[in-house]
Amino acid sequence: MGRRAFGLMACVGLVMAVSVSLSAGSAEAARKKKPQPIPAYATSVAWAAVPGPSLGAAQPIGGYAAGCIAGARPLPPEGVGYQVIRLSRQRNYGHPVLIDTLREFGRRVAAAGLGTALIGDMGQARGGPMPSGHASHQIGLDADVWLRLDLPPMGRAGRERLDEIKYVDYDRMRVTADWSDRQARMVQIAASDPRVARIFVNPAIKLAMCQRSWPDRGFLNKLRPWNGHDGHMHIRLSCPPGSPQCEAQAAQPDGDGCGEELISWLDSASPAIEHPPGHQPEPRVVRKVPAACRTVLNAAGTRMASLPESAPATVATTR
Ligand SMILES: [Zn+2]
Repeated sequence: MGRRAFGLMACVGLVMAVSVSLSAGSAEAARKKKPQPIPAYATSVAWAAVPGPSLGAAQPIGGYAAGCIAGARPLPPEGVGYQVIRLSRQRNYGHPVLIDTLREFGRRVAAAGLGTALIGDMGQARGGPMPSGHASHQIGLDADVWLRLDLPPMGRAGRERLDEIKYVDYDRMRVTADWSDRQARMVQIAASDPRVARIFVNPAIKLAMCQRSWPDRGFLNKLRPWNGHDGHMHIRLSCPPGSPQCEAQAAQPDGDGCGEELISWLDSASPAIEHPPGHQPEPRVVRKVPAACRTVLNAAGTRMASLPESAPATVATTR
């Protein structure tokens, strides 16, 4: 091959190489532009449809607002000092430590003569994002407990249609006249459990708790002011021992939290936006759900363990 011919071929080769790399570059750009498909484990649709918990040991995976739980258990629909409301939502699942904590909480509420606690949403059978309501409650360590204590033990169907009593007067940013010692003592019982990391309550409720005299004020540190939470408290447990995939939250600042931070919450609080009944929210997408949750979503599992007497039979295929 003469020098010229080689030079020509090298030149052609160079052009080809450039065009290959150009087309690779534009493919890369196109890939970047095109939205990536959303994996099923990142959408609320998939998690709301699972027929029951996965088998095996309980394991919270990820963070409270982006994760899932393997091996969750249902809280029995009723027990000493508590009853679960709105069972048809099938959100009465959690880590066994959450189940134990709530059962003991019920026993202590009963022993204190406070009435029957109403347990609201916990988590879905395998956790994950929910189509409506909470951003968190995803790893089986969160539970909402209503603050009203005026209802006797009821049938499951009757517990489907209850209204929260709201305890905050937003004009004054103080609790209403309905707030009583009974609510305060119930919140204190929940916060005194060492398994509980924090409890979200309305700033006006935190203020009412701060203004009471308590023999030991240590538990007040766990009460975190948050918007909404005027008819229920949101109990959050710490990651239980033996949960290496559970993402703990940063520790709270020291002190009872009754000072400046609370004042700033009181100044900025507003009622939560409530959707009318029957409101159909868009499915929720949480891209930070760990990929390990794909296995949990697809694992073999058990069927739904608890449904209200009145609920239609659910076709449950295990997977
Ligand atoms: Zn909650």
